[in-house]
Amino acid sequence: EHHVPARVGEVLDQTLLLIERSAASQGVVLHKVYRDSPASVLASPELLKQVFLNILINALQALQDGGQLLIETEAVDGQVFIHITNEGPPIAEEHLLTVFEPFFTTKKSGTGLGLAISQRIVQAYGGHISARNVDMGVQFTVVLPAKKEEA
Ligand code: ADP
Ligand code: MG
Repeated sequence: EHHVPARVGEVLDQTLLLIERSAASQGVVLHKVYRDSPASVLASPELLKQVFLNILINALQALQDGGQLLIETEAVDGQVFIHITNEGPPIAEEHLLTVFEPFFTTKKSGTGLGLAISQRIVQAYGGHISARNVDMGVQFTVVLPAKKEEA
């Protein structure tokens, strides 16, 4: 499909613009730690935005009463890692994989589709997405193959 280079830092910034207001009004503090931010991946920026937006909206929903939201990037061994971590209650261990299944939701009016769609998008570009509980709270990681730098 749209295998054009997308700069991960730029796509993240464009996505963060969409949630900045609601984050602020919710008392959520955003921290960005972009390492190797010029790193590019071969993926549609619009579809990547949708992936990041789904993860960020879930994070804001988990952070109802404010707290920290951390967005990190790094490029390691030809792969770009995007970590989105929110404070908040952990995901039950038995649900860490289930959250990516279509229609799995723990919300009163959730669709359970955000992460399922996100996983499909990321996999279509040769990447993967995972959830884990960390000291801070809940962390989602998107891994995509880095676009090779032209000499
Ligand atoms: P929806 O948001 O409509 O429920 P998603 O596919 O986006 O559907 O998420 C599926 C489920 O994964 C959520 O209902 C929730 O149980 C869990 N989840 C996703 N993100 C988080 C998070 N940051 N913290 C805790 N649970 C989460
Ligand atoms: Mg969601």
